[in-house]
Amino acid sequence: MDLEAHQLQAFTDAYAELESALSGSNVLVETYFADLTPEAYKTLSGFPSGKYLFAGVVDGRNIWANDLAASLAILQGLESIVGKDKLVVSTSCSLLHTAVDLVNETKLDDELKSWLAFAAQKVVEVNALAKALAGQKDEAFFSANAAAQASRKSSPRVNNEAVQKAASGLKGSDHRRATNVSARLDAQQKKLNLPALPTTTIGSFHKLWSLGGSAVNTRPRSEITEEEYVKAMKEEISKVVKLQEDLDIDVLVHGEPERNDMVEYFGEQLSGFAFTVNGWVQSYGSRCVKPPIIYGDVSRPNPMTVFWSSTAQSMTSRPMKGMLTGPVTILNWSFVRNDQPRHETCYQIALAIKDEVEDLEKAGINVIQIDEAALREGLPLRKSEHAFYLQWAVHSFRITNVGIQDTTQIHTHMCYSNFNDIIHSIIDMDADVITIENSRSDEKLLSVFREGVKYGAGIGPGVYDIHSPRIPSTEEIADRIRKMLAVLESNILWVNPDCGLKTRK
Ligand code: GLN
Ligand code: ZN
Repeated sequence: MDLEAHQLQAFTDAYAELESALSGSNVLVETYFADLTPEAYKTLSGFPSGKYLFAGVVDGRNIWANDLAASLAILQGLESIVGKDKLVVSTSCSLLHTAVDLVNETKLDDELKSWLAFAAQKVVEVNALAKALAGQKDEAFFSANAAAQASRKSSPRVNNEAVQKAASGLKGSDHRRATNVSARLDAQQKKLNLPALPTTTIGSFHKLWSLGGSAVNTRPRSEITEEEYVKAMKEEISKVVKLQEDLDIDVLVHGEPERNDMVEYFGEQLSGFAFTVNGWVQSYGSRCVKPPIIYGDVSRPNPMTVFWSSTAQSMTSRPMKGMLTGPVTILNWSFVRNDQPRHETCYQIALAIKDEVEDLEKAGINVIQIDEAALREGLPLRKSEHAFYLQWAVHSFRITNVGIQDTTQIHTHMCYSNFNDIIHSIIDMDADVITIENSRSDEKLLSVFREGVKYGAGIGPGVYDIHSPRIPSTEEIADRIRKMLAVLESNILWVNPDCGLKTRK
C-alpha cells in the first residue's frame, strides 16, 4: 500500500531487529497484490549488494499460463542488475488464490487447458524458468508454451469483433440517464405508488427453503426433467411470494432459488466464460468459491433471468424486483483474462447486462436490482490508481441502465462496509435506490451524512445483520430507522435487511 515515510522507517527498523535476532537465517520479505512503486524500480539499479531478489514473474493470483519467453527476458534483465546468483525465480504471491491442479479438470477441452496454469502447473513454470536462466532451457516445454500463447491470441473463441468494437468505444466517454434522479423518483412513484418507508429484501431466500422432502431436493439436477425442475422452482417462487405478501412487504423478490451463485449463474449463460469442476479457491475461513474463467469476449446470446422474473411478477400485483448481478461484481469475482485491460472486459459485461436490463423492462418488470456487492472490493491498493478504477467501474454500472425509461426504478445493492471513502462514486452510480450493508457499522454510514454529504436518491441502510442468527427487537430496528431519518437528505428511506436471506431459514 501507500506508506508514509515513518511507516517505511518502522519496517526498516523492525526487519533490522529480526535479522539481528535471527543471525544465521535469512529473512524474506514478500510484497504482493500490487507492484512496488515506479520509484522502487528506478532504484533497483542500486539494489543492495548481498541481498537476493525473489522475482515473482509467475502470477500467483490468476489461472493463465505464463508467457515463458517474456518472463525469461525479464529475468535476464533483472539478473544483469542484481547479479548472477542473487536472483530467485518465484510466483508473485502464495498460491492460495489460484485453483490447485489442472489435472482435475475433466470438462475443459485441451485447447483451453493449454492456455491455463493452476498452482501445480505454476510450480513447473517457475522451475522451467529457473533452469532456463541457468542455461538449461527445456526447448520442447518452451516451444509448446509459445504455441499455446499464439493460439490463444488468434483463437476465434477469444475474439468477437462486434463485441470488441462496441466495448472499446466506451472508454473515455460518459453515459448516464437523461433525467436526474429526483425527477425519475417522482415518475416512478406515480407508477409504483409505494408507502412511506417502503420495505423490501435483497434477493435470495433460503435455498430450497420449502422443498424439504420433495423429489427435487433429494435427487441430483441431472436426474430431474426440465418440466419437473421448472415446476419445482415455480412452487418455490410462489411460496416466497406468498410469504412476502403475508408479511406485507412492498417490493417483492422471487427468492433466487434457481441460482447456484450470484456470479456463476450469469457466467454460465454468457459467452466467453468457462467453468471448472474442481477449481475451488478459499474465499474466507472455510468458505470456498469456484470462480468462472473469463477467457474471451463476453456477450449474451439469450435472456438470462426474464423467464423467472416475469413468472414471479405474474404471481403478484405488487412490484417484483428483477435481480441481476452487476458487471463490476461479475468481473471481481471471476478469473479475468490478462490479455486486455480489466476495464475493457468490464465494459463487455456491462453491455451484456444492459441487454438483460432492457429485456426485463420490456417484459414488464418496473424495478430492477443490479447487485454490485464487490465494487468496493476491487479498489486497487495504490491510491494513485483509485480514481481510474472508480471511474470505469461506476461508468460500467451506469451503462447497464442508461437505456431505460424514467419510470423503471434501478436499485443497487452493496455488501461490506467502509463506503465512506468512496461515497461520491456511489452517488455517481446514479441508481434510484441503493440498499447497503449497515447494521454492523451503524454509526459509520450515519457519519457520512452527518458530515453533510448529500444523497438525493432512495437509500436502504440494512436494519439487521443477516449473517447473525440474532433477531433484533422491533424497538432496535425502529431506533435505527429514526437515527437515519434524522440525518438523511434522501427523498426515500427504505427498510430492508443487510443482504440476501439465503443464510437464514
Ligand atoms: N441478490 C443477492 C442475494 O440476495 C445479493 C447477494 C450479495 O450481496 N452478496 O443473494
Ligand atoms: Zn449483500
